[in-house]
Amino acid sequence: MAGRQSADAQDQRFPAAAAVPGVTVAKFGGTSVASAAQLRKVQAIIDADPARRVIVPSAPGKAHAGDTKVTDLLYLCHQLAAKGQALGQVWDTIAARFQGIVAELGVALDLSAILREARERIAGGASADYAASRGEAIHGRVLAAALGATYIDAAEVVFFDRAGRLDRRTFPAIAARCRIAGRVVIPGFYGSDHAGEVKTFSRGGSDVTGAVVANALDATLYENWTDVSGVLMTDPRVVAEARPITEITYRELRELSYMGASVLHEEAVFPVREKGIPINIRNTNRPADPGTMIVAERDAGNQVVVGIAGTKGFTVIQIEKAMMNTEVGFGRRVLDAFERLGISYEHTPTGIDTLSVVVADRQLVDASGTSKLEQVLEDLQATLRPDTLKVTPGMALIATVGQGMTHAVGTAARLFSSLAKARVNVRMIDQGSSEQNIIVGVEEADLALAIRAIYNEFA
Ligand code: ADP
Ligand code: ASP
Ligand code: MG
Repeated sequence: MAGRQSADAQDQRFPAAAAVPGVTVAKFGGTSVASAAQLRKVQAIIDADPARRVIVPSAPGKAHAGDTKVTDLLYLCHQLAAKGQALGQVWDTIAARFQGIVAELGVALDLSAILREARERIAGGASADYAASRGEAIHGRVLAAALGATYIDAAEVVFFDRAGRLDRRTFPAIAARCRIAGRVVIPGFYGSDHAGEVKTFSRGGSDVTGAVVANALDATLYENWTDVSGVLMTDPRVVAEARPITEITYRELRELSYMGASVLHEEAVFPVREKGIPINIRNTNRPADPGTMIVAERDAGNQVVVGIAGTKGFTVIQIEKAMMNTEVGFGRRVLDAFERLGISYEHTPTGIDTLSVVVADRQLVDASGTSKLEQVLEDLQATLRPDTLKVTPGMALIATVGQGMTHAVGTAARLFSSLAKARVNVRMIDQGSSEQNIIVGVEEADLALAIRAIYNEFA
C-alpha cells in the first residue's frame, strides 16, 4: 500500500506484534444503505474483513430511480414545521422506511421511541441541521443492531468550533470512545457545535466524518463504499463506459473535484491526507472490484493522464494592449478592477500582448441578481486604456489531469490534436502552474464532445 508510514513507525504503534491488525474505517454512502437488501451487502462486506471495525453510514438514499433520499425528506419536514404545518405523510414515509428495513432484516430493535422523539423535536421547531441529522442518527442504530456493533452518537465525538470548523478535540474524543473490543458504528454527516447543538457538515458530508474518524484512529485505510467502482476517468453521464482509475494522488483528485468530478466530498481529503492514510473508493454492489486507491504519491508509469473533468458557466474577458509587458503593474491593475467589485477569478492565461481573466458566471452577478459585467468593463477601460477588450460568454472549462503531464513530451500535442480532430474550437488554454493539469476553454455546446475526444485519446 503506497503513501503510508514506514514499517518502523508501524511497529512502534503496535509494539506487541503484527498480530494486531490496523483499523479500516468503512464509510457507506446513501445508495449503499438504502434498503434491507443493501444492508445485507454491507454486512457481507464487513464480515469479509475483520479489519473493518469502524463503520460510518449515511442516511438511506435512493433505493430506486424516482425514490427520495431520507435526508431530503427530513429537510422537507423542517420546512413544514417552520410554516406551522403538520409533518403528516412526509414523516410517515420516513418512519415507514426505517421500520420496513428493520422488519425485513429481522433485527430486534424497537425504533418507536427514537422516531417519536425525532418527530416531536422537528415538529416543535428544532433546527434544519437537527432534522437532517436524524437520517444518519437513526440509521446508525439500525446498522449497529444488524452488525452487532456498539453505536456511538456522532454528537458526542464530532465537534465544531465557534467558526463552524471542525474542532480538533474531535480526534481524541473519537479515539477514546473507539478503544473497545468489537465493531463500532458512528453515524456520518453531523456532530455538535460549541453550544452543544447538533450541526451538520454540508451535503454529502458523511464522507468527511469517515475521513475524520480515519484520522482519529490512525487507520491503515479509509474505505468509501458507494455505487460506482471507483473514481471514473470522467463523468459517467458524458462517457457511459468511462473506466475506473486504479490509483490517483490526493492532489490529482482535488484538481478533478474542483472541476466537477463529485464522487467524494471536497473536504474529505484533508483529514486523511494529513496522516497519509489512503482512501479506497469501492462499489457496494460489486465488492470484488478493486476500486480506486487515493494515495499521497503514485508512480505515473505510462499513464500520464489520470482523469478529465469539465464544467459549464464561465466568461472570458480578454484584454489586448500592444507592449503591455513594458507597463509595470499592468497585471495588478487588471486584477484590482475585479477585486474592487468583489469578483474572484479562476485563471489568468497570458499571451504576448494579451491577458485573459476567466470568471465563473455566478461571480458576475451581485446578491440581487444584477450583472457586474458592464461595471468591470468600464473600470478596465478607464484604468488600462486597452487596444481591445473582448468578452466571450458561454464557456466551459475542461481540466485534463495527471501529475507531471505538462512535462511529458507530446502530451499537450495529443490533447490538442484530439480536440482538433473532433472539430472542437479551443478558445483558451492554461497550463496550470501545478504541472498537474492543462485547462482548455471551449464553447459550452462543445463540452461533451470535447471530453469524449480527450477521453478516447488517453483512456
Ligand atoms: P454516495 O451516496 O455513496 O456518497 P455520491 O452520489 O455522493 O455517492 O457519489 C457517487 C456518484 O458520483 C456516482 O454515482 C456518479 O454518478 C457520480 N460521479 C460524478 N463524477 C464521477 C466520476 N468522475 N467518477 C465516479 N463517479 C462520479
Ligand atoms: N445524508 C447526507 C446527504 O444526503 C450526507 C451524506 O449522505 O453524506 O447529504
Ligand atoms: Mg457522497
